[in-house]
Amino acid sequence: MTEASNRLQEFVNSIAASVAVVATDQSGHLIVQACNKNFLDMTGGPPLGPREYPLEFDALVPSYARREFRDKLHECFNSGIAQEFEQAYDLKDGGTHWWRLSLKPFRYTEGTNVVLEILITGLDITPKMELQHQLQISTSRFQSVVDAAYDAIITVDQEHNVTLFNRAAENLFGYDASEMIGQPLLRLIPEPYRARHDGYIHQFARSPVKSRQMNERNRLHGLHHDGSLVPVEIAISKINVDGIMEFTAIVRDIADQVRLMDLLQKQAVTDQLTGLPNRREFLEVMDNCLASMGNLSVLMLDIDHFKVVNDTYGHDAGDEVLSVLAKVGTAVTSKVGVFARWGGEEFMVALPNTNLDAARAIAEQLRLTIANQDFKHDWHTGKPIAFTVSIGVATRAAGETDTAAILKRVDDALYKAKEGGRNRVVG
Ligand code: GH3
Ligand code: MG
Ligand code: MG
Repeated sequence: MTEASNRLQEFVNSIAASVAVVATDQSGHLIVQACNKNFLDMTGGPPLGPREYPLEFDALVPSYARREFRDKLHECFNSGIAQEFEQAYDLKDGGTHWWRLSLKPFRYTEGTNVVLEILITGLDITPKMELQHQLQISTSRFQSVVDAAYDAIITVDQEHNVTLFNRAAENLFGYDASEMIGQPLLRLIPEPYRARHDGYIHQFARSPVKSRQMNERNRLHGLHHDGSLVPVEIAISKINVDGIMEFTAIVRDIADQVRLMDLLQKQAVTDQLTGLPNRREFLEVMDNCLASMGNLSVLMLDIDHFKVVNDTYGHDAGDEVLSVLAKVGTAVTSKVGVFARWGGEEFMVALPNTNLDAARAIAEQLRLTIANQDFKHDWHTGKPIAFTVSIGVATRAAGETDTAAILKRVDDALYKAKEGGRNRVVG
């Protein structure tokens, strides 16, 4: 080795990157004039033993990487333009290392721009590639979880514009993700809640809580693309990305639960046979009336000799009579009060803001309508079933709030109507 090439070798050995200087011999083959240990570690060759520079490039670089490497070198020789590329090299222990290689013209024929030597520098970018790989894995894992999620997942940026809109969100709100990304979240919020929404998010942004359920008290709704309201449950959370607050909302479609809850709620206050408010609901109505200071009268109806109806025409016909009475009673009283089934063949009417005389008149109208069959109905029996009712009437004394006392008076009045010969109003 000449003194000059010794100095070159010392220089390249002292650099932390992998370094080599490449030239071509007389027959045009690539030769490595000098390289450091990192370069030899990178390429994995040549076999151990004393090394004599120049080394044959092909002997140094493994076959799988050789062609690309050679092409880049020739490109650099021919064009004089620096090249950059990345290559993976297998290690002896089975692992793989990634290198970013840059080729730069190093020495020219004097007075020309004909490249004589190229300086190769390589940086080990394996840790970066591994991070990238990990990131890719966790990104695709995140993506598949988000897309498979049963709940709608929506993220918004600081300005409350949508940055993520998963498939469940598309289904729930009727928008494609592409239509919503970058759009204001407000598009998904019904008009009446919009004004309050910004303040709510700002308050949540400042609070120490990182996530919370939005609908602790009230039922929430989302606004569907078609303008309809979707009952939802919403959990929101926030993350701080480089000082910028991002929000995620997990939105659950609770239309089915709401339907069921509404049904159960309705069933709890409705009589199944007649569809009238039941006893519980009637007592609730009375309590509400008594809570205000206004007048209140109550009618109690009982079908006369109903047992005979059942015995004569059968239980189903009896049921039909009960339904007919419900229909007629509701029609007569719907503008002035609440008609309810008390139980069996007994019915109640709450008449708010109605004094005793007015209540008696309404009771009398009811009694006559029924006794005269003054209504239309297609009887299953083929011909009408005649029936009558006895009615008790009671009125709240000024300021009275005792429901039981009023019920006792109306029950007594009904008893008297029965005693007095039925098909009559007493009170
Ligand atoms: P009164 O004039 O004294 O009121 O005589 P009534 O026969 O109407 O009174 P009673 O209390 O003796 O009989 C009430 C009958 O109502 C007995 C019961 O089988 C019947 N009943 C109660 N609930 C229903 C129902 O939901 N459907 C039918 N078909 N009958 C019912
Ligand atoms: Mg009875
Ligand atoms: Mg009866």
